[in-house]
Amino acid sequence: MALLIPDYCFDTIYDITPELLRGNGIEAVILDIDNTMVPYETAEATVENLRWLENLKKVGIKAAFVSNNHRERVEKYAESTGLSAYPDSGKPLRKGITAAISGMETTPDKAAIIGDQIFTDVLAGNIAGIRITILVKPIKDKRDPLCRFKRLLEKPLLAVYRKREKRREKRKG
Ligand SMILES: [Mg+2]
Repeated sequence: MALLIPDYCFDTIYDITPELLRGNGIEAVILDIDNTMVPYETAEATVENLRWLENLKKVGIKAAFVSNNHRERVEKYAESTGLSAYPDSGKPLRKGITAAISGMETTPDKAAIIGDQIFTDVLAGNIAGIRITILVKPIKDKRDPLCRFKRLLEKPLLAVYRKREKRREKRKG
């Protein structure tokens, strides 16, 4: 169960600041592409994407893309950012994440994973021993039955997250 609860939830990647990452001892981020950076049908990085990535780079945080989508899509997107990409990663398996970690010459305990799906991104990050897992809301969800089913399964896990978040807030006073 703990493997399925994100450490943080945000509406969009733009809510994730370099300060939050540095504050958690993060020096590298593993990024999902589809519905995290851009919708499925957007081939290249947006101006906002590039600005956000640039802000990470400015404080020395490395980044790479780990996606379950196919090589052509993933490489085209990654090329538009100048960052490395690991397509067909098979998340929640750890192989893509492990490759990205060594590609960035870092270790899992100094890395964060950012994605829109609990059963792929959050689970993969926890299986691979990534320090923090960050869930963002999907930019534009597919409405097929499988996707709806997965979102339904995520609901109780998000409830656990929110409960824990409330306790965290209380402690802070
Ligand atoms: Mg995704």
